[in-house]
Amino acid sequence: MTYDYLIVGSGSAGAVLAARLSEDTATSVLLIEAGPDFATLEELPDEIKYAWFPNSDGNLGVKANSYDWGFKGKATNESPNIEVPRGKVIGGSSSTNAQGFIRGIPEDFNEWVELGNNTWSFDNALKYYKKSESDLDIQDDFHGSDGPIIARRFKKSELTNISLDFYNSCKSFGFDDSYDINHPDSTGVGALPFNNPDRIRWSTSIGYLNDIRDRENLTIISNCFVNKILFDHLTATGVKADILGKEHTYTALNVILSAGAICSPQLLMLSGIGNTNYLQKLGIEPIYDLPSVGQNLRDHPRIPLMWESANQISLKKHQSPLQVVLRYTSVNSNFRNDIYMIIAAVSADQTVRMGVGLYKAKSSGSITLSTSDPYTQPVIDYNYFNDDFDLRRMRDAVRLACNIISSKYFSEAENYPKGMNEIILSDDNNLNSWIRTNVDTFHHISGTCKMGLINDPTSVVDQFGNVKGVKNLRIVDASIMPDCVRANTNATVIMMAEKISDDIKSGN
Ligand SMILES: Cc1cc2nc3c(=O)[nH]c(=O)nc-3n(C[C@H](O)[C@H](O)[C@H](O)COP(=O)(O)OP(=O)(O)OC[C@H]3O[C@@H](n4cnc5c(N)ncnc54)[C@H](O)[C@@H]3O)c2cc1C
Repeated sequence: MTYDYLIVGSGSAGAVLAARLSEDTATSVLLIEAGPDFATLEELPDEIKYAWFPNSDGNLGVKANSYDWGFKGKATNESPNIEVPRGKVIGGSSSTNAQGFIRGIPEDFNEWVELGNNTWSFDNALKYYKKSESDLDIQDDFHGSDGPIIARRFKKSELTNISLDFYNSCKSFGFDDSYDINHPDSTGVGALPFNNPDRIRWSTSIGYLNDIRDRENLTIISNCFVNKILFDHLTATGVKADILGKEHTYTALNVILSAGAICSPQLLMLSGIGNTNYLQKLGIEPIYDLPSVGQNLRDHPRIPLMWESANQISLKKHQSPLQVVLRYTSVNSNFRNDIYMIIAAVSADQTVRMGVGLYKAKSSGSITLSTSDPYTQPVIDYNYFNDDFDLRRMRDAVRLACNIISSKYFSEAENYPKGMNEIILSDDNNLNSWIRTNVDTFHHISGTCKMGLINDPTSVVDQFGNVKGVKNLRIVDASIMPDCVRANTNATVIMMAEKISDDIKSGN
């Protein structure tokens, strides 16, 4: 059978596309996922369903190890081997993430428009952010109330002492209260919206797929690893895939890659779209020369800070250790909300932790292949802090984070974070090298198949996700963001898939 649409990857984007495109009963949709499928809430393993395991390890119990690709990446020369988790299961990384449900800010979309993506104004994005959500707390012009993803915030009465102290300490430094972090003008400290009603990780699989699985025009194939896109000259015609070591071929009029910011560029390159010279050296037959594939890797570098807790931490079963967040604009920065700090109370080892993130980095990295073997992970090079402005803002943020914790309003931890002391903190060179050694990721990898004008040599797709130079092939996932939005990326990827579903339906 030749499907109308074949979607590779059922993550934050792929599940949305499958649900929206199959609304038209005359359209046949095939959704292929490398990981396993769980069709109902009851079938979902707890590891996916609940996310927060108080007794788990340093990753705060969020990562679902049994359903992860297990990638490694290079953050800096001093930190060459960080973990890069990505969900390998129905729902993709939305099934394994930390559920912060936060939107990009208007300035992010102004930049996208300036790059020639004129249908991506903030107003347009807002329409689809609203369509995708049911906000349980706030009903106003900026929020949706009947979308598939359920979002809510922790009430003041639910906050741990650590979250409360963090909130009060941030206020004492002059930061505003941010009641609605998803309001376009929001900045300051407040409760982060989470897509985990009743402590359930409300993935795109639960929100978009579970209720529509019986549609006759929708086929879902799980545990199926796509290793090549098939072409007839420059027209995509389907994919080659592997199920339990057996090769299968699927054909379609339209192929959509939603394999994420690591695997989508990998699949393009494995299939001959990328830097021709480089691909030939690896023995891959080139189809179209597009050196921008895999470049422009964007993310939010994160400095993890950890203190011994001064008081006993006890969390309820599956209670999120994350509740409150601070966003602010660095001194002398033109990028609003370029810093993000989140506090966590971790009961497993009785620590107070903070993630300090640079949410608008200037430096960018790359995804490249080291081999033509589809089963070898691509080379992930974040190239963090290649720009002094990034390092300066991160130094300031780490110092501020330490001051917030040592203020008289924060009584839950004392002294310096683990591995830190006054000699490191007070000296720029020492702190630079500490940051470069300790940095990891906030898990918002994006930008590796950048959206932009056809004549922009740095773009890979046009603003509707069509891959340049070939026909019937789109990409819709985190990889097509021109730059990572100043927010955690799940809500934005879902919004983008909602918008491009409508673009496709209206013939774009
Ligand atoms: C540990 C962690 C915590 C995070 N926390 C947050 C958070 O709190 N808030 C937030 O907003 N964002 C968070 N994120 C980021 C967010 O979840 C991702 O940006 C988003 O899910 C990416 O969506 P995507 O559709 O681009 O890719 P994914 O959701 O990763 O989907 C890609 C899908 O494609 C499948 N696939 C890949 N290659 C193939 C292949 N060859 N054949 C078949 N299938 C394939 C994968 O298995 C996967 O299901 C987190 C991510 C992680 C990993």
